[in-house]
Amino acid sequence: MAKEDYKGIWIFAEQEFGVLHPTVFELIAKSKELQKFSGEKISAVLLGNNVASLADTLFEYGADEVILAESEALAQYSARPYQAALTQLVEKHKPSILIYGATALGRDLAPRLMISLKTGLTADAINLGFDEDGMFYQTTPAYGGKILAQITIPECRPQMATVHAGICEPLAPVKGAKGILSVENIEVEADADYEVIERKPIENLGRQLTDEKVVIAGGRGIKVQEDLAMLEELAELLDGQVASSRPLVDNGWLPHEKQLGQSGITVKPDLIFNIAISGSVQYLLGMQNSKCIVAINQSEDAPIFDYAHYGIVSDYKKFLPAFIAELRTRKS
Ligand SMILES: Cc1cc2nc3c(=O)[nH]c(=O)nc-3n(C[C@H](O)[C@H](O)[C@H](O)COP(=O)(O)OP(=O)(O)OC[C@H]3O[C@@H](n4cnc5c(N)ncnc54)[C@H](O)[C@@H]3O)c2cc1C
Repeated sequence: MAKEDYKGIWIFAEQEFGVLHPTVFELIAKSKELQKFSGEKISAVLLGNNVASLADTLFEYGADEVILAESEALAQYSARPYQAALTQLVEKHKPSILIYGATALGRDLAPRLMISLKTGLTADAINLGFDEDGMFYQTTPAYGGKILAQITIPECRPQMATVHAGICEPLAPVKGAKGILSVENIEVEADADYEVIERKPIENLGRQLTDEKVVIAGGRGIKVQEDLAMLEELAELLDGQVASSRPLVDNGWLPHEKQLGQSGITVKPDLIFNIAISGSVQYLLGMQNSKCIVAINQSEDAPIFDYAHYGIVSDYKKFLPAFIAELRTRKS
């Protein structure tokens, strides 16, 4: 089949236990930008069991169509049944573009579809668009973040990408908006090779870093673990939480849940302090949409200063004790 026969922008509408993942709304918003260029229909593909009620939410956030496939075998995410279901739908409808959130689930499912559909996949795209020749491209950091690669999939269809969280703000929902609901009958069997015996929430996580209004992030320039106590002290004074760039997680000083960036989490607090962090592309992806960005770095050439609203060129060991003391004075 000729590639010109593939039409439409599809979004994988990830849900778990009947709750849509927040990235789905971001993907719809991004697709609206693509639609302005290509004029193609935006379809959200919803797999699960007893999830039909989510279609209204997808319409309210901007989907033109919801393609719904329900089966007991799809009640909980399971790689092979989801792969089989989505493959059938793509082979039947032939979308031109298929995008997924770069979530744990999306990162598991998308490469499987790449294999079953024999097409291309860009991992962790930070932008999507059409170039001057009308070719759909996906932008992603490459060579350790030294370049931003613009990737195209010229021959195979659908053109697929997992998309990093936070690259686009969701549109404001339009209450009562309607679209086309296409209910599909698919044949899919549960995976007999393993069984989920029990699911338990992670206990006692406390306040989520993603919900914090203030984040105090530390980087590789912090040479001794004991210095993290200063960051904790500042976080306590400002009622925030400590986070970090990847090196401190690699050191084993902080758990992975605290890592901001491409392979960590994305935060958008009102205020973020970046302490001894250079500002790599991969790190910036995790915090660049914060409202007020403060950088403390001893090198005035650090790239983080290009993104900071307030920059302090200083050794953090000198700056932080003085800053903390001043805050304490003002608070008392
Ligand atoms: C596929 C891939 C995914 C990645 N994902 C992530 C990710 O999710 N998150 C992430 O963070 N990284 C990620 N990285 C790593 C990333 O490329 C950088 O290596 C990392 O972000 C650098 O962290 P940093 O800024 O803390 O350290 P550095 O780049 O080493 O910067 C340290 C900074 O501290 C400053 N400094 C030193 N001493 C002091 C002092 N006493 N006072 C003040 N400033 C000082 C220095 O001037 C320097 O600017 C990824 C890389 C790849 C290839």
